[in-house]
Amino acid sequence: MNFIETRGNDGQRPAEVSFSEAILSPISSFGGIYSPQSIPDLGLTFLSKHLNSSYKVLAKEILAAFEIDIDSDIIDEALNLYDKFDDPDNPVPVIKVHDDLYVSELYHGPTRAFKDMALQPFGLVLSSLAQKRNENYLILAATSGDTGPAALETFKNRSNVKVVCMYPDGGTSDVQRLQMVTEDADNLKVLGVIGDFDDTQSALKHLLGSDRFKQTLKNKNVQLSAANSVNFGRIIFQIIYHIHSYLELVRQDAIEIGEKVYLNVPSGNFGNALGGYYAMKMCLPVEKILIASNNNNILTQLINQGRYDLREMAVTPTTSPAMDILKSSNIERILFDMFGATRTRELMQQLDNDHHYQLTDSELRSIQNIFSADFCNDDEGKDFIKATFENGYLMDPHTATCFKAYNTCREKNLKTIVYSTAEWTKFSPVINNALTGESGVQDQQALKAIAETAHIEIPAMIDGLFEKAITQNTIIEKDRIETEILNFI
Ligand SMILES: *Cc1c(COP(=O)(O)O)cnc(C)c1O
Repeated sequence: MNFIETRGNDGQRPAEVSFSEAILSPISSFGGIYSPQSIPDLGLTFLSKHLNSSYKVLAKEILAAFEIDIDSDIIDEALNLYDKFDDPDNPVPVIKVHDDLYVSELYHGPTRAFKDMALQPFGLVLSSLAQKRNENYLILAATSGDTGPAALETFKNRSNVKVVCMYPDGGTSDVQRLQMVTEDADNLKVLGVIGDFDDTQSALKHLLGSDRFKQTLKNKNVQLSAANSVNFGRIIFQIIYHIHSYLELVRQDAIEIGEKVYLNVPSGNFGNALGGYYAMKMCLPVEKILIASNNNNILTQLINQGRYDLREMAVTPTTSPAMDILKSSNIERILFDMFGATRTRELMQQLDNDHHYQLTDSELRSIQNIFSADFCNDDEGKDFIKATFENGYLMDPHTATCFKAYNTCREKNLKTIVYSTAEWTKFSPVINNALTGESGVQDQQALKAIAETAHIEIPAMIDGLFEKAITQNTIIEKDRIETEILNFI
């Protein structure tokens, strides 16, 4: 299958590209992105057929439905990376928490956050393509916490790809920072940038848009690519676990094949929710996809009012920082799928130029047929963490935002799959604060306190971080970023 452009074609670029081209060079005409030409309709028989399939077999069949131009042995190698997860037989456990609420745990990979679900196989696929074409790629990432460690981990020591990962110095948790600065491989560079995440991100965007910078790279025989979730190469791996989680509910006798469920997703850039939307179009019986936000509640506004309005909004830091996002990039693929390229281009250009757009009533109804949304503030989130812990389940502050939507958005008593996007170890100070009321406790102490209270162990890869040598100790002003990158490559 080929991939087409969300904002239509400018007459300069090819109107459709293969999967490999879409992932190597993810930006299309008019600043759009790539989406599949069609979403394969697999039907309920696909679910019955895979009731007893392993995660990898299921994954392989879903990828096959998109007829992507990646060799079968590369796909096998990429999917074998799920063997590194805690339980190779079930990389994504689904746990009953109470009543209709089931949690699908997406964080059992090497960096303990859900970014591994897609970035692990994606890294291998991208590097194999680069090798096959004898090309060299540079991946630039700006991270406030979870993408950085997962991107470094997946590209570590892989050929033909180098990664420069920038984080705001002082703006991440200790665990997140240590996961980055203890990475030791010749093809990885981590830069602490003085300033906040917005400073780091705008410096990066400036570089990505600079023709001079691209030309300098080209002279060194290096091309730029992106590993953020506009890359369809990540989205495709995020369809699988939605279908897997549904099948897990069937295996646990919670539902029968065909029974509708709610998917309940803590959302930022909307990659996770988009995967659920595609899964629903392919085969999953879904009543609604419930979109959970924190106080940066632009998605709640869009889904409840049909309005995307950045004019009066500024990103506010919350206790669920991976969702502190106002420009949610994968909404564009929903607009494209529902309303077509012409309308998507119009809306996205309004957003770029005027910082807002308004959907029509009938467009809003189409969105509300599929999605419902609510947001959860930090205090509500902490209450959910505490109450749920007292009920026997420990969760992180991103996952907690879903519990609000579970209470307010469901219209029917249907089984609900909440997606848990980070292990407790990544946000221990917030969780410790929720459980004990103490504040100002740093990661290392908070980890110990929670492990003791909950009678669980700190996973070795997290505990070990505090003993590991720091190999990446560059901290720079943002005007030094370009020089540092060029020195590195
Ligand atoms: C990235 C991330 C999210 C948001 O996911 P999107 O696919 O961007 O909507 C939520 N929680 C955690 C912990 C994350 O790392």
